[in-house]
Amino acid sequence: MEKLVGVGASPGIAIGVAHVLASRVEIHERRIAADQVDAELRRFETGLMESDAQLARIQAQIAEREGDEQQYQILEAHRLMLSDVHLVERARRLIRDDHAAAEWAVRKALDQIQAVFDRIEDPYFRDRKSDVAMVGERLLRNLVGVGDSSSPEEAPKGCIAIAHELSPADAAQLGRAEAVGFCTEGGGRTSHTAIVARALGLPYVVGVENIGRRVWSGMTVVIDGARGEVILDPDAAALHVYETRAEAARSRQQRLAEMRDVAAQTVDGTPIHLQANIEMLEEIPIAVELGAEAVGLFRTEFLYLERADLPSEDEQYAHAVAALKSVGGRTVTFRTLDLGGDKLPPSVRIPSGTNPAMGLRSIRYSLKREDVFRTQLRALYRAGASGPMQILFPLISGVAELRAAKRLCAQVSEELEREGVPHARKIPIGVMIETPSAAMISDLLAAECDFLSIGTNDLIQYSLAADREDEHVGYLYHPLHPAILRSLRQIVVASEKTGCPVAMCGDMAGDAMLTWVLVGLGLRQLSMAPRQIPMVKSIVRATRLADAEHLLAQALSMSTETEIEELVYSGMRQRFPLELGDAEEERSAG
Ligand code: PEP
Ligand code: MG
Repeated sequence: MEKLVGVGASPGIAIGVAHVLASRVEIHERRIAADQVDAELRRFETGLMESDAQLARIQAQIAEREGDEQQYQILEAHRLMLSDVHLVERARRLIRDDHAAAEWAVRKALDQIQAVFDRIEDPYFRDRKSDVAMVGERLLRNLVGVGDSSSPEEAPKGCIAIAHELSPADAAQLGRAEAVGFCTEGGGRTSHTAIVARALGLPYVVGVENIGRRVWSGMTVVIDGARGEVILDPDAAALHVYETRAEAARSRQQRLAEMRDVAAQTVDGTPIHLQANIEMLEEIPIAVELGAEAVGLFRTEFLYLERADLPSEDEQYAHAVAALKSVGGRTVTFRTLDLGGDKLPPSVRIPSGTNPAMGLRSIRYSLKREDVFRTQLRALYRAGASGPMQILFPLISGVAELRAAKRLCAQVSEELEREGVPHARKIPIGVMIETPSAAMISDLLAAECDFLSIGTNDLIQYSLAADREDEHVGYLYHPLHPAILRSLRQIVVASEKTGCPVAMCGDMAGDAMLTWVLVGLGLRQLSMAPRQIPMVKSIVRATRLADAEHLLAQALSMSTETEIEELVYSGMRQRFPLELGDAEEERSAG
């Protein structure tokens, strides 16, 4: 048994069998003697056959669990690539003529093919590069004898996926394959993969050093996604501890969920509106069940992530209408496309730049690709005829961007009017405050839009210059940094002065440990992962406004995040021992 510690990114306890997802195989140049060529060619053929047999086996598994037809077809295409002349013939030639060892020949052939892909303009064909890479890695793994590549689509039901990195799409795919938890070497608490894990209700531990080297597929593993603990090969006593903990967390969640119908208001009667962040339609009934008053953030880009083509206007319209219908008359705030960074669907080609987080992403991409943006806006304005909604623009850094986006909204609405297509004439338009510049000019933005929504995940990373995905600077990423508190206060004051309502939809909003700080700051609308709502509600209902304001005033008088954290955490643990003190795992329950 071995215990590893990382950072808890999605709470809950999972016990299961590890499924190690492979990373790129290291291949070094190797030549063979002339008399070994025939044997090497045979070894190459065996590698091809093994790879094909593995893919066929996965296809059979998908068919057996009546899995996704699209996934099945993708694997069919991967099998065809194993007989592709560019890959196979080129590798054979390199073995025969250059006396390259089989794996070195494959690596060289792959590199040449990938270079060709890089020169292709068409985004669809260019993005097939990753399929070639996946097939190539499988073949290489078989040639060097490290076996099956264990990709997300092969994950057995009930497994815990272990990887160096996981993309949001991988996490969604693993969720569908009924994995019960994730653990990665890289990643951060507010990464989009963590957001997907919380949406799926699956425990996730990030930043576990060398996990790939200490665990192998088939080993029993326990992960505690709140404490950030990973137990490899647990003994009976450890299993008992974690099973008991999981049971206690389940019953606590059940107790909290019973508060569904009581109002979220402070002891002195101030309502705090608790809303849900949604990535996938399936989450909406859970959000309603857990007492969400509205959907405060619908991350629309998740519809784009796992597919090869862009969704059409009709498809996006149907998707938005489905959201509005299932939320039962509550308002849905649709955030327009926030693509780029770690959210890169195969259908979208964004120049990566040296720093994607600061590159052409989000609203910048939408304004550049007006065709893509207009299609989404048309779908949303049409869906607006089916229920109350708001439109929210991400990553706004200045008033000019807001005006440009609003201009497109007005054009789209006029266009639909001219065409006689039913649509909403007026949809409230809001801006995410998630760049330091937006925070500083929040009064100017507030004067030209209908609402503000604070995205603390990005606001913190940009304000503190600490990448939210990078475990190496995780220690700098701090919601209670004095700069963040001042920034939040400035935004709330701008909202109060202009009368433009403000919500918070970053992860900070759902952290029950921070509820007093947020209420003290003057925030009255908090949007969070659905599973966080009951806990935050129970804290709100036991809060006196004056106490929260007092705590905030003390926090604002301090100079370092460590002092503030000590003040806030110890105060909250003392005041809410049952909810927070001995139940740390519920802290960011999601
Ligand atoms: C945020 O940045 O806080 C936010 C809510 O947006 P996302 O996490 O999707 O970047
Ligand atoms: Mg953001």
